[in-house]
Amino acid sequence: MGTWEGEMCEYCGGSIIEKRGTRHRKVKTRYLLLEKVPAGFCVQCGTRFYSANGLKTIQGSIRGRRKADGRVAVPIVLPLAERRKQDQTVGLPSHLWRGTGS
Ligand SMILES: [Zn+2]
Repeated sequence: MGTWEGEMCEYCGGSIIEKRGTRHRKVKTRYLLLEKVPAGFCVQCGTRFYSANGLKTIQGSIRGRRKADGRVAVPIVLPLAERRKQDQTVGLPSHLWRGTGS
């Protein structure tokens, strides 16, 4: 049935079932969530295996050949030093970062 039917885990010899999971990858300044990536999952030791096809899909998405299917806002927390650097370079007008008042 599935891609992993009859496959055995190369580490423990357990049987492999197919699971779809969310993978995330940071590429340069972009952060990608890849949803429902098919992977083989060993029922005994939990090792995950990716088929060549699955990996191709991931790499295709990263290179931007495939359009993203959606966007989510990912909160970014910078280390303090980085944040200071940003404050200097961005130079927001003071009324903006103080809030627009009343
Ligand atoms: Zn295993």
